[in-house]
Amino acid sequence: MTTTIPQPLPRVLRLPRYSTARAAVPSGAAYLASNESPFGPLPSVAAAIAEEAANIHRYPDMHASRLRGELGDRWGVDPDQVVVGTGSVGILQQIVAAYAGPGDTVVYPWRSFEAYPILVGAGGATGVGIPLTAAGEMDLPALAAAIDESTKIVVLCLPNNPTGAISVAAAVAAFVAAVPSRVMVVIDEAYAEFVPPSLRVDSAALVRVHRNVCVLRTFSKAYGLAGLRIGYAVTSPTVADALRRVFLPFGVSAVAQSAALTSLGAETELAERVRFVIERRDAVSSRVDDLGWALPRSWANFIWLDAAERAGALGAALRGEGVIARVFPSEGVRVTIGDDVANARFVSALAGWDRR
Ligand code: PMP
Repeated sequence: MTTTIPQPLPRVLRLPRYSTARAAVPSGAAYLASNESPFGPLPSVAAAIAEEAANIHRYPDMHASRLRGELGDRWGVDPDQVVVGTGSVGILQQIVAAYAGPGDTVVYPWRSFEAYPILVGAGGATGVGIPLTAAGEMDLPALAAAIDESTKIVVLCLPNNPTGAISVAAAVAAFVAAVPSRVMVVIDEAYAEFVPPSLRVDSAALVRVHRNVCVLRTFSKAYGLAGLRIGYAVTSPTVADALRRVFLPFGVSAVAQSAALTSLGAETELAERVRFVIERRDAVSSRVDDLGWALPRSWANFIWLDAAERAGALGAALRGEGVIARVFPSEGVRVTIGDDVANARFVSALAGWDRR
């Protein structure tokens, strides 16, 4: 007698796997593969976490009311227009669940954040990846041209992961205005804090004007709370209501909410940390350019080495020197900006690599 076991949906078996280098990090290596902050928690944040830990036998406030109130004030929107989720990936999953299913398409730039095709495919929709320009930027005209009757969502990634490139703010605003209002426009701004204000898209204004715009932000990068899994969206009340309906109940812990709220109050220290990363990013970029790489200008907390077919070899060589970067086979290697020791190790490992 043959036994049968439950079979996953065929579309689940087709999903690419999310890859992370974390499991195989040799001790003592510099881990520069996940675009995290090089800084541990601020003392005020560590204290808030410790205090909230006393309550972990309780469920959290599922609606993150205090945090949404504070974010609403900062963005100049009603708190009902703010959705707090399990990292920005959690919110992206909610967006797909609420707006796109079988037969629908979701358009996004590609190469971009690897979770996009996974979340879209898991939701049963079809992803349409639009190649970046030669400069590593999103190709806005091509993204616009890919939107058709079946498109339910278009995603913009600003700056784009993994190239770090941004698009001209005015071009993004024009793009958003031209998208049919029945299509959701997601603007993923995971790295917004690393972009100089003069180059940032005025996403708050876009949300005020367009009811189909949903801006994603995270506490994982500049705020250094990646391990707590908390991000948020700012959007219209109608979209926010739909996203709340598909939220995994209690998916954001009270510890995460408290750490996020405390971080918002620690602006000066966090701005200092962001300045550190920006300065190191620019210094590392110029050292790498001096080694003969023509890097796309990065506006995030990582740089992109377009190693093409040699990406795997470069990743292995860096690993051999104790530097763990993120390898995209046959495409390139993304290296997060770390502390001074890690950055120096990376630059010297790269300098020692024979590109030929
Ligand atoms: N968007 C982009 C572009 C990212 O690079 C990342 C993290 N790698 C995320 C979203 C997810 O961040 P979170 O930790 O908030 O889920």
